[in-house]
Amino acid sequence: MYRQIHVGKGSTLDELIAEFLAAKNIVAFTGAGISTECGIPDYRSPGGIWSKMTPIQFSDFMTSEEARLEDWRRRFLMYQQFGDAQPGSGHRALRALHDAGQLRSVVTQNIDGLHSKSGLPSEKVIELHGNGTFATCMSCGAHHDIEWAEAEIERTTSSPCCRLCSGHVKAAIISFGQMMPEEEMDRAVRDAQAADLMVVIGSSLVVHPAAQIPELAKDSGAQLLIINREPTPLDWMADGLFHGEISTFFERLLVECGSSTSG
Ligand code: NAD
Ligand code: ZN
Repeated sequence: MYRQIHVGKGSTLDELIAEFLAAKNIVAFTGAGISTECGIPDYRSPGGIWSKMTPIQFSDFMTSEEARLEDWRRRFLMYQQFGDAQPGSGHRALRALHDAGQLRSVVTQNIDGLHSKSGLPSEKVIELHGNGTFATCMSCGAHHDIEWAEAEIERTTSSPCCRLCSGHVKAAIISFGQMMPEEEMDRAVRDAQAADLMVVIGSSLVVHPAAQIPELAKDSGAQLLIINREPTPLDWMADGLFHGEISTFFERLLVECGSSTSG
């Protein structure tokens, strides 16, 4: 892009999509907004989860049985929403770009597993905040099913303990105050530095350090495109900007790609 294409400010959606499709090495940075059309609420839109409850800190989970039980109660509710959800237009478009050989990776803040459900290979999906569709032992790392955890709480009325080592079992998401996953952060940084286009889809870009990834891509020479209903702190540096519905952008892009099929 040789000039800023901010849709609504003298530029059209078609111009923005044409620039998008010219990219060869796209890295997407996705947030909760890409999954709202799939029926999973985001945190910061009015009525979102964030406005309703205080987050549980990692240290509280590890030290307080009460906090663990409350954390699990919330995870089960989220897991129910995830279970029925199907990939939306943004997930499907990223899959189409992968099939066309234009997608380097998806760096996601989401924990709903929908990028994988769209058929993207696991090595293309970098989950910075973990995954809420399964659980792990905090001592030995063993995997456990969410359904198993639910049955354990029902059976014992206590938070679930690992079958192998009796450690605390926790949904495999990164909680507030918990260390970011090192390998995923390293991969996200590497891909951000190598991208020719960084596209932010449905993120308020206020959760750090994850939100530094798009900025790093821009600083490393990538074009920055932001697709979000509301303004973000990085709008001022964006080469392309679309303030609107993710489905408006990606349903159109899917038609241009010649693919409107899922999975
Ligand atoms: P956020 O809630 O802070 O921001 C979401 C942004 O998406 C908002 O700015 C909103 O205006 C926009 N948006 C929502 N629906 C949209 C739509 N249909 N079209 C266009 N824009 C839309 O989310 P975040 O930046 O991802 O940060 C929140 C944190 O919460 C992340 O760490 C994430 O792990 C977690 N989270 C994940 C899920 C999920 O996995 N689906 C859901 C809620 C929260
Ligand atoms: Zn264990």
